[in-house]
Amino acid sequence: MNIIILGPPGAGKGTQAQHLVETRNMVQLSTGDMLRAARTSGTEMGKIVAGVMDRGELVTDEIVIGLIREQLEKGSEGGFIFDGFPRTLAQADALNALLEENNIALDAVISLEVDDEVLVQRVVNRAKEAVAAGKEARADDNEESMRTRLMEYYKKTSPLIGYYYAKGNLSGIDGLQSIEAVQSSLAAVLDR
Ligand code: AMP
Repeated sequence: MNIIILGPPGAGKGTQAQHLVETRNMVQLSTGDMLRAARTSGTEMGKIVAGVMDRGELVTDEIVIGLIREQLEKGSEGGFIFDGFPRTLAQADALNALLEENNIALDAVISLEVDDEVLVQRVVNRAKEAVAAGKEARADDNEESMRTRLMEYYKKTSPLIGYYYAKGNLSGIDGLQSIEAVQSSLAAVLDR
């Protein structure tokens, strides 16, 4: 199965994707993770990406589409989970074309629905927890970047909900439930 997990920053996309990797042998394609790896590479591209990410803005479509293209060519037995991609209509169109080229079907688009104020709190808490555990918090997990990330989401990513609804493969899930309850709701959609 190949699925997209859509949702605002802090909705739990990564957590749910990780569970599917562990239980269903799926491959998680997180452009956020790929970009965090690229920024530590010391390349010129990495430096530009770092600044954009820390401000909470979106990196260019060209960069993320290139990252996804490379991964799709590798294939996946259990299927792909697109986590944090696509984030713009141009990325969604590019993904359609890439899926067709690689003969990959898109089986479901899951929209994790959450409340904005809860999101901001979750992300601020995620940073505090990381620091308390002696780890480094994500540079974009602070209230200011989070507000920019939310604005980017509403301006550029949320239209994808209508886009995939119109294509006929959108399923909404209440992302405010416990992690386990979201896992079961997600499983119910994938197994139907
Ligand atoms: P995430 O880990 O998915 O929250 O992504 C962290 C940051 O990486 C975002 O705030 C963006 O700056 C960048 N990013 C991740 N995925 C994309 C994408 N598909 N398009 C543009 N920027 C992205």
